[in-house]
Amino acid sequence: MTNTIEVLKPHEYWLIKQQTNELIKAYHSVNDKQTIHALQALIKGNVEHYFKRNNNLNIHLEKLMNPALTREQFSAIFEVVKSYVQPMRIPTHKQIEKCYRKVKKLPNLEMTDIDFRELTYLGFNDGNNNRKYLIRDINNQFTGLYGQFNPDAQKGHCAICNQIGTVAFFLATTKSAGDGTYTKKGNYICTDSFECNRQINDLEHLEKFWQNFSK
Ligand SMILES: [Zn+2]
Repeated sequence: MTNTIEVLKPHEYWLIKQQTNELIKAYHSVNDKQTIHALQALIKGNVEHYFKRNNNLNIHLEKLMNPALTREQFSAIFEVVKSYVQPMRIPTHKQIEKCYRKVKKLPNLEMTDIDFRELTYLGFNDGNNNRKYLIRDINNQFTGLYGQFNPDAQKGHCAICNQIGTVAFFLATTKSAGDGTYTKKGNYICTDSFECNRQINDLEHLEKFWQNFSK
């Protein structure tokens, strides 16, 4: 919150990247100028309010409107745009432990390899115990979910990113509201949570998933 340059949330970054990627595809496959102009107007309308949050960021939107843009230039632009993303806060090992008080041995996670500007949530697998751990920073507080994660991956719909990909069944025990009994709940989610994050372009499904398992 201290750095005013960081005007984008990770899922907003992925939204504008996905949207403008459609432009690049069209630049390389569509010859009709009218079609390109119409698509540019449409996508610009969808994403310009994000770019307008910062004057320097806004310059990059104009660069994306150039039909001669190469894929390399597109990637380079998005490396710069990424510096405008407010990264997810990095949880310390202690903070992760606090999220999972009942878990005795958590897998070690090498945080230095992770780009937190790409993450709406942090998810990691414990292959030894067939578990998946999910962490979010909600109102400056880390909260975690974990569940059994059946490693039999298949192609399907992910309940978090709402895309089709390689998914597996996540099964967690949750406390029913009020009466203290426990129920098991499950959903298919992406096996690779870093890939899942790259596909999140709105928080609706993540919020729904989280609420369902937090009860
Ligand atoms: Zn997903």
